[in-house]
Formats: sequence, structure tokens, C-alpha cells
Amino acid sequence: MGKIMALTSFLMCLASCTPQTEFEVATWRGFKQCAVTFAFEDSYTNQFTKALPMFYEYDYPCSFFVCTKWCNQKKWDALREATAKGFEVGSHTVEHAVYDTLSYNEQRQDILDANARINVKIPMYRCNTLAYSNCVVGDTNLVKKHYFAAKGCAGYIEPKSPRDYYNISSLICGEAGAVNSFEQFKRSFETTKTTGGWCIFTVNEIDHGTNPDSSGYSSLSSSILRESLQYLKDQEKSYSYWVATFKDVAKYAKERDHHKIEVVHKDSTAKAINPDKIVVRLTLTDGLDSETYDCPLTLRCLLPFGWHNIEVFQKEKVINHIVKPINGCKYIIFDAVPDKGDIYIINLD
Ligand SMILES: [Zn+2]
Repeated sequence: MGKIMALTSFLMCLASCTPQTEFEVATWRGFKQCAVTFAFEDSYTNQFTKALPMFYEYDYPCSFFVCTKWCNQKKWDALREATAKGFEVGSHTVEHAVYDTLSYNEQRQDILDANARINVKIPMYRCNTLAYSNCVVGDTNLVKKHYFAAKGCAGYIEPKSPRDYYNISSLICGEAGAVNSFEQFKRSFETTKTTGGWCIFTVNEIDHGTNPDSSGYSSLSSSILRESLQYLKDQEKSYSYWVATFKDVAKYAKERDHHKIEVVHKDSTAKAINPDKIVVRLTLTDGLDSETYDCPLTLRCLLPFGWHNIEVFQKEKVINHIVKPINGCKYIIFDAVPDKGDIYIINLD
């Protein structure tokens, strides 16, 4: 866990407010109770014509682990558009290669070829996640060199800190999997919420494919998928589920587990922003490679007594925030990326 340095009496709380901590990083984004990821594999056509539009409609991002040889131009165009909206494209090898059947050099070549293909087809996007074909783990040192996280399908729901970032567990959906009805999705959601963990659903074929005679692996009905997304939407007000891509949840978990907050108040170095109003300066760091670990963490800070007109900055940019009462205390809640500059909380009154 990150170390939170206690703030002194400067931040006085309301009479009825006895806060646990004055500064806290949320277990999951937005203080939601658990994380849920939908990960598509094998690049079947119906994923693009049926599933992707559904995720757009519900405004949830998802992950596509692609076999680069199985993507035509139309699919690449759809993937490029999706990554611009925060969706993920990861590797599922060039042509579904099962890594334990390949030599070290063959695995290495497959990784390089798949990543290069993704980079050519989606410029400006960095593929740094892998889903093992047939869930068979490859050479871990090799995989670590090219990816920061990799997905398997051990069939359990991960705790809030994945046990092994190079074999993160998922549940297989559809006819050959453990989750093939709305009730089974719902049960998985509820279990994940109870444990506060991370559930990843691996989805392959949808609606038996465009040609049912050549249906892909473990088909899932699009209406079950829709019902499940609708359920998550209906639960939004309860702050239960953070629906996010594989890479974002993996980054969040690792950053959260490595974060460190330091607090300085009335800091004169912040005067460039507003000479008279500086109040609290925080530094949020995680000690991880900032090029990869760029996912915002959600923080909450106790709102100092008598403050009404707040602004939050990171470096010189305003960050959106909300003020929310929790158990008699008022908190300022905002998202900030670790190692991206000091955070300033300013009272404008
Ligand atoms: Zn596959």
C-alpha cells in the first residue's frame, strides 16, 4: 500500500466529521467497488459489427486482443477508431500461435511481428498487452520485455491486486465457457463486487459468426451481452462497477499499490499559478515507468473547513473535481496521473 502522510491541524474538519484519512487513493477509479473488463479475442467479424457498436452505445470501453493476420482493412479501421476513444488493442499473436509449442526465437519473432503490424495499422498507438493463445503462458522473460501485462484464463476473479501480472485470470464466455447466460454474468458481477476484485470476461465468437457453418470458438449470444451491459448501466448510481479496458485496470492496480502521497501546504513554489491563494500542494508518485504507467488514480482529500470555492491543478492545468459528503465529512475527489507534476488545491474565496 502507498504511504499516506498525515496532514496536521491545518485542515480542520467539520465538528461532526471524524475522517479515517485526510488523503486517500481509491481502490478503483471513481471509488467504485470493483473492476470489470470485457476482452475480445480472435478478431471475429461479429465482434466489430455486433459487439463494438454495443459498447459505443453503452459508453463502455473494451479490449480487443487481435490475431494480426486475421484482421482485414475494415477491422483495422474499426480498431483505429476505437483506440481513439480509449478502447484497447492488444496482441493475441500473429496467427493464434500457442507459445509453448514455439522456440524462444520463434516466440520472439511472433511478438515482434504482431506488435509491428499493430503499430503500422494503428500509428500513435502503443500495443503493450498480450492475451496468450489458448491461455498457454509463453516465455515469461520474453513476454516481460515487450508487454507490461498478459492475460490467461485460469477461471477465477482476480483480487484487487492481481497475483501475477503475466498471467492475469479471466473467465471464458460463450458455449465452451463458464459464463453463457445473463444469470451467470450477473453472478460474476456480484461476486466481484463482494470481493472488491477484478473480473475479466474473455469473449470469442458472437452469434455463431456471419456464417453459422463456420462459427468461431465459444459463441456468445449478443442479446446476453446486451442484457449484461444494460445491467451494469442500471447499477451506475451505486458506484459498484468500474468498466474499463484490461490495460487501464492493470495499470491502475499497480499504480495504486505503489503510490505515495506527500503533502506540503502554503507552498511558495506554487505562486506562479495564483500568488495569494495557494493552499495545499501534493505530490503523487508511484516509482513506476511513467511512459507505461500513465493511468489516472482517483484521490480524495478532506475539504478544509470553510472552503467553498475550490480549484484543483496538476502542474498548470485545471483538473475536474467534485465535492462529496461522506459520513459527515466533505471530500474533494479528483483523478490525477502519478509523476505528472505537483497537485495544487486552491481556495479561491
Ligand atoms: Zn484465441
